[in-house]
Amino acid sequence: MSKTYTQCSQQLIATSGLGHITTCTDCGHVHLNLNAVTLRFDLDAFRDLVDMLGFAQHKLDTDNAAHQALARSIISKALRH
Ligand SMILES: [Zn+2]
Repeated sequence: MSKTYTQCSQQLIATSGLGHITTCTDCGHVHLNLNAVTLRFDLDAFRDLVDMLGFAQHKLDTDNAAHQALARSIISKALRH
């Protein structure tokens, strides 16, 4: 049976206009809080997420075709509203 954590003891480790990130000394998870949404990761999964985001950002920064496709998508969505 998995242990349940009813009371997380969170410590703030980063904040920005998007939200904030905390770690929990009880369950060991990383909590990514984005406005009304909170995603909880173990340390390995959080590291994988950061690696994936960094890879995607690098691809957007270096891959002109990917950057242009993103720009077209953003413009297309903006025109629909
Ligand atoms: Zn916790």
